[in-house]
Amino acid sequence: MPGDIVLPAGPWFDSHAHVYLYDLFDEKFGLGMGGEFDLALRLVHAAEEAGVCGILCPGIDWKTNRFAIELARRCPGKVWAAVGIHPNSVGKCHDSELDRVQRLSSDPVVKAIGETGLDRYHDDTPWDAQCNWFRGHLELAVTRNLPVIVHCRDAEEEITPILREYAGRGLRGVMHACAASWEYASQWLELGLYLSFAGSVTYRNRKFDAVRETARRVPLDRILVETDAPFLIPEPLRGRVSSCYVQYVALTGGFLAELRGMTSEDFAAQTRRNAETLFGLTL
Ligand SMILES: [Zn+2]
Repeated sequence: MPGDIVLPAGPWFDSHAHVYLYDLFDEKFGLGMGGEFDLALRLVHAAEEAGVCGILCPGIDWKTNRFAIELARRCPGKVWAAVGIHPNSVGKCHDSELDRVQRLSSDPVVKAIGETGLDRYHDDTPWDAQCNWFRGHLELAVTRNLPVIVHCRDAEEEITPILREYAGRGLRGVMHACAASWEYASQWLELGLYLSFAGSVTYRNRKFDAVRETARRVPLDRILVETDAPFLIPEPLRGRVSSCYVQYVALTGGFLAELRGMTSEDFAAQTRRNAETLFGLTL
């Protein structure tokens, strides 16, 4: 990390990090328990040294679901897993994949179902397939009484009625890397969902003004912070480094604290409590 950057004080809980998506994640290692697994352990350790007290690592397909579980087992009390098939991965999956997600979801280190959702931005996956898989994940979350981790990209209008339907059946969860205006975010909050903000909330472009407004207005007991690592590098590192690492959660957290007129310590403590409540963790 560039030497002039000071990480705002935590300790921080990163509610969404794909710790397995760094360069060394290579097919030739099969399940990914080779060199890239050691890399993931090193990344977790580096994050811990830099003030991160916990990480929720969601899978995006069969292989990464198992990776996330294995990583969580190897880092007890620090890393937890979520299992699901990402909307951009469902096109390559057989329907029976959801049964495998269900089986994995009974592992004690699995604290959520996801990541799942709808994505109109990367539209290489058929829309009907995305909707069917999303509903399958929501069914599973309700049945297992686990929170769901929702990816929503350019699909606010379509996703909201589906979420409302399942909220009536006890759905709990979080809208991850929230990019929504208050118009939609306020509806999700009414459904009891949490909102998690990633590095994009720090971006200076005008189009992110709306999500900053959302982040300013979310009730304090419903806000989470995340990296979505290795994506969404927060300011002031955006454009200066090539990947987002878990410890950068402090930069997004510090930004949100300032936006809300709080100290970073108080904001970090609040987001830790929220993560404990939503995911049933003890940090
Ligand atoms: Zn993600």
